[in-house]
Amino acid sequence: MSKVASILRCTCPKCRKGRLFTSRNPYAFKGGLDMPDHCPVCHQDFKIEPGFYIGALWTSFPIVIILMALISLLLLVYFKMEMNWFFVTLAIILFLLQPIIIRLGRSIWIHLFVAYDPDAENK
Ligand SMILES: [Zn+2]
Repeated sequence: MSKVASILRCTCPKCRKGRLFTSRNPYAFKGGLDMPDHCPVCHQDFKIEPGFYIGALWTSFPIVIILMALISLLLLVYFKMEMNWFFVTLAIILFLLQPIIIRLGRSIWIHLFVAYDPDAENK
């Protein structure tokens, strides 16, 4: 699995097999963002230091900006939406996408710090 595929599928950056999140459903009301302490496959520490995922703001923020730009283009240029409806629609769409954005931001963040190890599973 490539690094990009590993990020998008939210798998462990070291073995690219274990799942980063306990639940497969990002919209699970309870525990949708819960992560195990260690990778179930290679035992890579997922909580590298206290507050590690606060840094994921730096990776989820650009995702939000890019999404906002794309959705804005779509709503304003393609659908020619009025401004007041545009802001309401944009806010609702971003709110609904928030669990996925947070997961992706965390996945990118941990992939920046942990290198891939093809033999991680066997150690
Ligand atoms: Zn792993």
